[in-house]
Amino acid sequence: MKLTVLGCHSPYPPVDGAGPGYLLTHAGVNVLLDCGSGVVSKLGKYVDPQSGRLAAVVLSHLHADHFCDLLVLRYAHMVAMHKGEVAPLAVYCPDEPETERTVIPFRHTLALHTIDECSRFALSDMKFSFYRTKHVYPCYAVRVEARGRSLVYTGDTAWDEGLIDFAMLADVLLVEACFTEQKKGENPAQHMSARDCGALAEHAMVGKLILTHLPPTGDSADLLAEAQTVFSGDAALAFSGLALEL
Ligand SMILES: [Zn+2]
Repeated sequence: MKLTVLGCHSPYPPVDGAGPGYLLTHAGVNVLLDCGSGVVSKLGKYVDPQSGRLAAVVLSHLHADHFCDLLVLRYAHMVAMHKGEVAPLAVYCPDEPETERTVIPFRHTLALHTIDECSRFALSDMKFSFYRTKHVYPCYAVRVEARGRSLVYTGDTAWDEGLIDFAMLADVLLVEACFTEQKKGENPAQHMSARDCGALAEHAMVGKLILTHLPPTGDSADLLAEAQTVFSGDAALAFSGLALEL
């Protein structure tokens, strides 16, 4: 299983950057986790969006910074369907909030599937399972297992001890680090600090920690340094183009 970071900034992308978007490829099957602003442009470097070669999109939640580019990816997939024998694009997402969910369907180009904490499915050899996080909108962390290797992506969440079991022994933990512990005090409890990310990685004994959902300004070195005060393993910042073989 290969992870390619397409974009990693929130709540908006920097110049030439993109919001949250992570391409998983295994045995020739491509799955996109989240689809923030600018992700379709970055996706084109690896998978032509109008080739019909994207098997599915999995959305952690329906905040605009995590799904807005799906609304234009629909157009590319419509072209793919016009060109040949391409099925509607499978999209797995929460069914709330209703206002956001209702804007997603478009001319039969998408096959929408609702996810919740009990959802389990496989795409090729990739097995997906979910955990409801603590966030203002319903949000699901995603665990993907393939041939004994595992990736956990938290989506957006406040600190939640339950994530430790969900992320236990993952080879790669992709986790949102919005701010430092000091700045967390100024924000509502919807996101984790870099220190929280390090603590989650340490308790879950993951193989590698990747910090994402990074602020569009600054170099985020302070976030990595803070996470490393509590996580003793391998840690790095996400960036567009980062590729990892799991
Ligand atoms: Zn969010």
